[in-house]
Amino acid sequence: MKFGGTSVGDVAAFERVFHIVSTQIERHPVVVVSAMTKVTDALLAAFETAKKGDFADAYASLEPHFDRHTAVSEHFISGDKPDAFNGELEFARGELSDLLMRVTRRSLPLQMLKDAIVSYGEQLSSRLLAEVLKAKGVAARQVDSRRLIVTDDEYGAATPIIDETNEIVRLELEPLIAGGEVPILGGFIAANRAGETTTLGRGGSDYSAAIVAAALHSNELQIWTDVTGVMTCDPRICDSAKTIPVLSYEEAAELAYFGAKVLHPKTIKPAVDNAIPVRVCNTFEPNEMGTMVLADSGETPNKIKSIAHKKNITILRISSARMLGSYGFMSAVFQVFERFRTVIDVISTSEVSIALTLDNTAEIDKIVAELERLGDVEIDTGYAVICVVGEGLRASTGLASTVFSTIEDVNVALISHGASSVNLTFVVKEDSAADVIKRLHKGFSEYWPQSTQRP
Ligand code: ADP
Ligand code: ASP
Ligand code: MG
Repeated sequence: MKFGGTSVGDVAAFERVFHIVSTQIERHPVVVVSAMTKVTDALLAAFETAKKGDFADAYASLEPHFDRHTAVSEHFISGDKPDAFNGELEFARGELSDLLMRVTRRSLPLQMLKDAIVSYGEQLSSRLLAEVLKAKGVAARQVDSRRLIVTDDEYGAATPIIDETNEIVRLELEPLIAGGEVPILGGFIAANRAGETTTLGRGGSDYSAAIVAAALHSNELQIWTDVTGVMTCDPRICDSAKTIPVLSYEEAAELAYFGAKVLHPKTIKPAVDNAIPVRVCNTFEPNEMGTMVLADSGETPNKIKSIAHKKNITILRISSARMLGSYGFMSAVFQVFERFRTVIDVISTSEVSIALTLDNTAEIDKIVAELERLGDVEIDTGYAVICVVGEGLRASTGLASTVFSTIEDVNVALISHGASSVNLTFVVKEDSAADVIKRLHKGFSEYWPQSTQRP
């Protein structure tokens, strides 16, 4: 059972988590929890402030977040017993102060310090949840995920070493589970072989949960969040968004990749490989079924499942007359992106040019400098990728034309369909994205599930 940041935001949220966990005790759950909402952002901001040399401000900016933890522990953990969480919080304060000072002084590699700092979000939330559950009579026990999940040295977006991780997860957790305890793990955080803290990338708690579920051969992975499952589009954009009862793994992966952040893209992989069904459910509506992600959704063709989007997209166009009729050009272009570890989202080619989109532009200057050796490069910012996903796109011919006739007055910068036949992806200016999504959502209303309520 993975609980996201909004599911552990305050006293009421912890109360909801207790009820959800306690109703499933007999299924022997393992709980994976994210940092309390906004804490990861706050820790990253503190790191940036310290980097600018302002240690005092960096540390002070965390105070309100420490207080939010204290408010929860004071509510649930009674005053007469020594408050185990308080000790942990004091310890964390001291360590964070030391780490932020090191950032200011550059006394250790910054990427390493950044992961060490940001890991306190999950270190604290997992300890707090374990103490709250214990205070309410659940046999909970915090287990430090940094002892369980072994990764490479890629700070900020580390890759788990699966064999080693599986072995340790089983060795550490199975005896606890067999003894009737409920392990509580922080998501997102891990450690490399040398024991230094690493993290799995933003939104990575879903990934942690999937890794643990796979290692333990769990019969279900539950992702508890603040919406009722994966919906037909982001409910923050369209209030008529509906819950999708069943999704195939492939559809879920496409949606996640193209911005439906309700599921982290990598979550899918360990679950797919181990045939573990994933259920996305709402902590505010625990009795609704949410979305089941299955190996094969078994739905009839001609179905569109959802519209995902991702903003803040940059388009790069590389054109070169030399490319005409030659080979090796594409590979030269891709090698540049590989060298700078930058992921390409959408790509479209003609005989003399390649257009592609990026959402991570950290290395763009260096990338452009190298690409300019291959041809002329143009950069365009402020775009959004919109992605219509459904197994139905495989078979049906009319759907793409419906998409484009719905938005015929919108300027579309790039189109891609085919690589994975379950998606139709296109790129528009960011300021028209919300309108395009609303129109498509309305245009495809006949495809959306009629009711979200199930017994
Ligand atoms: P958590 O903190 O539980 O990990 P996230 O914020 O990562 O939660 O993901 C949940 C959010 O994803 C929702 O609040 C919603 O705004 C957003 N979202 C984007 N696209 C979708 C979609 N297609 N279905 C459901 N939620 C979506
Ligand atoms: N706390 C981390 C983040 O905000 C991981 C997660 O919530 O999944 O990115
Ligand atoms: Mg998330």
